[in-house]
Amino acid sequence: MLKSYLGIDIGSISTKGVVVTEEGDILASSYLWTEGNPIGAVKRLLAQLEEDLTGTEARIVAVGTTGSARELIGAILDAQAIKNEITAHAMGTLSLHPDVRTIFEIGGQDSKIIILRDGIPVDYAMNTLCAAGTGSFLSSQAKRLGIQVEQFGDYALRAERPTKIAGRCTVFAESDLVHKAQMGYAVEDIVAGLCNAIVSNYLNNVGKGKKIEAPIVFQGGVSKNVGVVKAFADATGHDILVDDCGHLMGALGIALLAKASGLEDDFDFSIRSMSFKTTGLECGRCPNNCEIVCVLRDEEFLAGWGNRCEVGLEQIMRPE
Ligand code: SF4
Repeated sequence: MLKSYLGIDIGSISTKGVVVTEEGDILASSYLWTEGNPIGAVKRLLAQLEEDLTGTEARIVAVGTTGSARELIGAILDAQAIKNEITAHAMGTLSLHPDVRTIFEIGGQDSKIIILRDGIPVDYAMNTLCAAGTGSFLSSQAKRLGIQVEQFGDYALRAERPTKIAGRCTVFAESDLVHKAQMGYAVEDIVAGLCNAIVSNYLNNVGKGKKIEAPIVFQGGVSKNVGVVKAFADATGHDILVDDCGHLMGALGIALLAKASGLEDDFDFSIRSMSFKTTGLECGRCPNNCEIVCVLRDEEFLAGWGNRCEVGLEQIMRPE
């Protein structure tokens, strides 16, 4: 029997999962789109992971969840660890780079920076409002230029004279890009300009006021874009480290945190055939009128949150 730990990172765009050994080696991993249905996405994720583990000796003894739907999925899976993305990303990155001092992360629709000193996260910032520097923005601009987003980085590296693109918001960047294309700039130079604009937008917004020091690790879906990696290296004057599993770092970190919890309970994949639903209730026992989100398994109350005191949950569990 091989003791292992499951970590799930459920974001609004993508859902990631890894199963790691006691030594922290990844045994199985999966990455798929959340499609607005975190419970459905986690069920599909579990099906893939179970298939990947077939024939191995792995037995999952602890589960961790992170990401925007961590409470919901944590309740459903009876997780031993439920932590925010900053903690999970820091933990995952430190397991591979114990001396990391800065983490850049650019995902599908948001971005963040984490500053660490001596293995401890000391500062962070997140940008969830502006899409200008994110993966979805890059995908839409690639489409506009008629190239595959996967080829974006290679185009950028071939640029001879990167053009300047105004990257401070999507509207400016889009109109500037159209303008530059009409002026006859080479696609390679426009793509390189866009990569530089994304990096400048990131450093001036998410990274504003942060003490960026090497070693720097870059992760999230956009870290696969070698053009953006080069732009970060040029702008910071440091090497930028990118891991193959950089897009799974939150899931890896929360799997390790589940292990670190010291709590163990055999995990059963049959949980994915159960029926779960969420419902909202208003407590109304005092003027706070807390809105409580409840998750039900096969119509039975499983967990709830949003209550400011215990009375809210007690009246759901023991209605008069
Ligand atoms: S959960 Fe507590 S604070 Fe919230 S409305 Fe009910 S009694 Fe008031």
